[in-house]
Amino acid sequence: MTGRTKLIAGNWKMNGRRADGLALAAGIVERARGGAGAEAPACELLICPPATLLAAVCEVIAGSGVRLGGQDCHAAPNGAFTGDISAEMLADAGCTHVILGHSERRHGHGETDFEIRDKVAAAHRAGLDAILCVGETRPQREAGEAIAVVGAQLAGSIPDGLDRDRLIVAYEPVWAIGTGLSATLDDIAAMHAAIRADLAPDSRILYGGSVNPANAAAILALNDVNGALVGGASLDPDAFWAIACCSG
Ligand code: PEP
Repeated sequence: MTGRTKLIAGNWKMNGRRADGLALAAGIVERARGGAGAEAPACELLICPPATLLAAVCEVIAGSGVRLGGQDCHAAPNGAFTGDISAEMLADAGCTHVILGHSERRHGHGETDFEIRDKVAAAHRAGLDAILCVGETRPQREAGEAIAVVGAQLAGSIPDGLDRDRLIVAYEPVWAIGTGLSATLDDIAAMHAAIRADLAPDSRILYGGSVNPANAAAILALNDVNGALVGGASLDPDAFWAIACCSG
């Protein structure tokens, strides 16, 4: 396990209109500032709202220490790519991080390791820390292929010569995302140890997949688990905060 502070990241996915998104951000900021009886956890907090809310959420979190991330980016800095957002645009909107290669993009949008690799390079070009998501499907786990699958995703998605100190990897078993199922502690520990071998000693490796206030403490106490990527539970400020408070 590294000496790095844990990172608790909330992936809001395609959720949030202006009113409820800003209220959610304000609820997290209030707790981060010690309001609502909250005690500051010893972790870094990151929230990744939909792109439509980035600028407004950036204003809400200003000065609070809570950081802002995007959920995807294009590999090019600008150009004729209708509907896409570049890493430079995310940085310009106040982001410090970007989630890349989430399974909902790999499986829902057919993103390949090759494309994700270019996005990781783009994130670093723009000064963003990439959160590179990897994870196996249920059939792959049942076939005993989980570690090999994740190893291949890392090999295919990490650009040559990348500063691995700045790369964050999120291990998210596909079958655990949004299902209420979570990998066993033994399986998480084994996977994180395998991922560690591919990264810099101080790189952060997050776990994601139905993390909630009830299971967070045990997961976050594992060796080589340096934080969590939280989907559903990040939409509730109390639940997100309770998870953050499990970070030690
Ligand atoms: C995610 O979207 O990255 C995720 C882990 O979602 P959930 O926590 O809802 O499983």
